[in-house]
Amino acid sequence: MDSKVTVDGLTFVPYITRDEIECQVKRVAGEIRTDLKGKNPLFLCVLNGAFIFAADLLREVGINDAKISFVKYSSYEGTSSTGKVKEIIGLNEDIEGRDVVIVEDIVDTGLTASMMVADLKKRNPRSIRFATLLHKPESSKTGFKPDYVAFSIPPKFIIGYGLDLDGKVRNLKDIYVIEED
Ligand code: 5GP
Repeated sequence: MDSKVTVDGLTFVPYITRDEIECQVKRVAGEIRTDLKGKNPLFLCVLNGAFIFAADLLREVGINDAKISFVKYSSYEGTSSTGKVKEIIGLNEDIEGRDVVIVEDIVDTGLTASMMVADLKKRNPRSIRFATLLHKPESSKTGFKPDYVAFSIPPKFIIGYGLDLDGKVRNLKDIYVIEED
């Protein structure tokens, strides 16, 4: 793990190691496997940030009949939320009667999450569950509560393991937090 990462003039310090991530991804996968036993879920990966988490989670859940599809929303510019959520790639899958598991990288204000769930409910799935790698409960503007959370964290800006700064540093295997003075 690099001791510090500098990107676009901002410095980030180590926060969650790849081993801790692996351990919590396994725990969440186990919970999903138990809850969806005997069902044939559709995982809905929220691009771009959740692609690495979704890849690891899907393999850990280990349900061969499970399918995965992708949607894309955007609310962030730089290191802060714009407060508006834009749908960039919509869902073209029929989810009627399906058990859907949304896979997100991070729930911050909860705006993206609550908008997605409300939108998907209109398409009559049998159930919707929400899994997130990271949750910042103190940033919530919606009271949205994910069903599965790998890590609950304070409201600080995070990068790595799929999470970006202006599209960069998604490749980092560990999670880093912005350095405070
Ligand atoms: P929300 O709608 O809950 O405010 O924001 C959700 C989206 O904001 C996430 O999917 C993610 O793209 C972005 N986001 C929120 N917090 C962070 C953060 O700490 N780091 C990064 N890289 N993105 C974040």
